[in-house]
Amino acid sequence: MTATIIDGQAVASRLRLDVAEAAAGLRARHRFTPGLAAILVGDDPASHIYVRNKRRACADAGLASFEHHLPADTSEAELLNLVDRLGTDERVDGILVQLPLPPQIDPRRIIAGIDPAKDVDGFHPANIGRLWSGERTLIPCTAQGCLILLRTVCHSLAGAEAVVLGRSSIVGKPVAALLLAESCTITIAHSRTADAATVCRRADILVVAVGRPMLVKGDWIKPGAIVIDVGINRLSHNGAGPRLVGDVDTVDAAMIAGAISPVPGGVGPMTIACLLRNTVVAACRRRGISDPEL
Ligand code: NAD
Repeated sequence: MTATIIDGQAVASRLRLDVAEAAAGLRARHRFTPGLAAILVGDDPASHIYVRNKRRACADAGLASFEHHLPADTSEAELLNLVDRLGTDERVDGILVQLPLPPQIDPRRIIAGIDPAKDVDGFHPANIGRLWSGERTLIPCTAQGCLILLRTVCHSLAGAEAVVLGRSSIVGKPVAALLLAESCTITIAHSRTADAATVCRRADILVVAVGRPMLVKGDWIKPGAIVIDVGINRLSHNGAGPRLVGDVDTVDAAMIAGAISPVPGGVGPMTIACLLRNTVVAACRRRGISDPEL
């Protein structure tokens, strides 16, 4: 078997166009532009790249973006103060605090300080609670991206055996919550799972988010399964620039799986597209406008 390769780049491009169209519609009919505020504390080079990419994505989709770059020695109180001010800024519909934060700042306190209605990362405890309760919420972007990609190759997820490898709050747990809401039978496996390969092998749907380069091999996969690889790992490559690989050995896995998302070009592009989507959704909900069809 050779797996269908799920083209996350193409799916994300379509979603970004749909977001741009929704934003244009809001401008025309309701006279406002959805806005995303990004806060970056310190000089982490990867975080700078992520925030720059988010700014460009906002501009492409016709969303307003506001950037706040704070020095590495910013105190927790100063950051909370900014988050608070953005909570009352009418131009701002989404607030994103780029992680990781410097050690003097507790990310949980900052996330808890974000207005849940503007929490476009979906990390606020109130939004996490709503997600697990099956209530309407802002869904964490990477998890939402995984679900959208799954739907491109599988129209009914109900009853499927789903295994999520990795239990982080930003990926593994929200993916599991979404798959449960789709009526999958879910198992969450992690670093302390005895024999993760055997657990993965029973999955019709396998989502892998562990941050371990090419951990999952073909013999971890049930024939015909759908595999979503969330991992982004940079491997140094014969003196050349780093090579990006996922948590799945794609070449090996593609011999067994029915469909697989590649790295790069799978979940990665979906995360930013879903952030834009959440910003437009948050903008509508704050103004009592029904959710755009995205
Ligand atoms: P994390 O370090 O917070 O969590 C990793 C999880 O994997 C933990 O629950 C741990 O128990 C589990 N784990 C680690 N080693 C394991 C092993 N050998 N067997 C089974 N489980 C194991 O990581 P995260 O933030 O969830 O990110 C995971 C990966 O996804 C990383 O490569 C990260 O870069 C990537 N990521 C990608 C996107 C995207 O947009 N595509 C977004 C977020 C994270």
